[in-house]
Amino acid sequence: MLLVTDLERWRRLAEDQRAGGRRIGLVATMGALHEGHQALVAAARANGDYVIMTIFVNSRQFNDPNDLRAYPRTPGQDRAVAESAGVDALVEPTMGEMWPAFPDPTLTTVSVAGLGDRLEGAGRPGHFDGVASVVAKLAIVTGPSRAYFGEKDFQQLAVVRRMVADLGLDVTVVGCPIVRDDDGLALSSRNVRLSPEARARALSLSHALGVASGHDGPASEMRAMMRATMEHAGVQVAYAEVVDPITLRPADDTETGLRRALVAGVVDGVRLIDNREVYVRGGH
Ligand code: AMP
Repeated sequence: MLLVTDLERWRRLAEDQRAGGRRIGLVATMGALHEGHQALVAAARANGDYVIMTIFVNSRQFNDPNDLRAYPRTPGQDRAVAESAGVDALVEPTMGEMWPAFPDPTLTTVSVAGLGDRLEGAGRPGHFDGVASVVAKLAIVTGPSRAYFGEKDFQQLAVVRRMVADLGLDVTVVGCPIVRDDDGLALSSRNVRLSPEARARALSLSHALGVASGHDGPASEMRAMMRATMEHAGVQVAYAEVVDPITLRPADDTETGLRRALVAGVVDGVRLIDNREVYVRGGH
């Protein structure tokens, strides 16, 4: 596995691979790698891609400096995990190369208005501007044929898909299923910050989604059931929503069909998210 930090080397490496007829699969991460990240690499390998993984804790997508400070960083371990997962080149760009003006603000921002300001974006202003800006830059430097993103961050996937369509980037966005622990908790780099007691409460997110998906009824009933399940477990609920999977607009109670339920909550200061496909049945 090649290890690259220099932006020009990274760009040349990608150019050489394309010139050699290989397709590049991009797996963008913030490190603290777990099986969710490994599944993205496995999907890229299954497609025969030359896998470039990036690890960059993107300051621009953190609206809370404490969250940025507390974000887990395990670089040595990440290199071993990436190598054993079959990553061909691991790129760890420096802050100065990603955001040359840092610590001053970067002047150029990619913003997907309407998708990025609801749900996670409502509680974390600017978050998806940071996400869209970093993914655009990673894609421009790497030039991948495919970019792999987890459904764990469902809104992020929707924002990235829309950005790629709006900007005409020549990359196929591949969404990959959520990887969970045996008990149903969605894997997340933030889970290491949960005490055993907090972890038990965190399970109410996936339980809430299970309750919603087992309910044969309209969206508003699902929202109420999800919220109650999480609140009962002592989770501070940020939102419990049922939305159209593409536009992310809230489903109304006349709608029937497949929608996406998304939940977010704070457990012991740790913000967690989860989501699941649901079937809503509207009234008449
Ligand atoms: P992160 O390092 O948290 O920014 O995540 C990097 C990529 O891994 C994103 O596309 C995430 O959606 C994806 N990812 C994170 N956790 C999971 C999971 N449990 N299952 C599937 N994909 C995940």
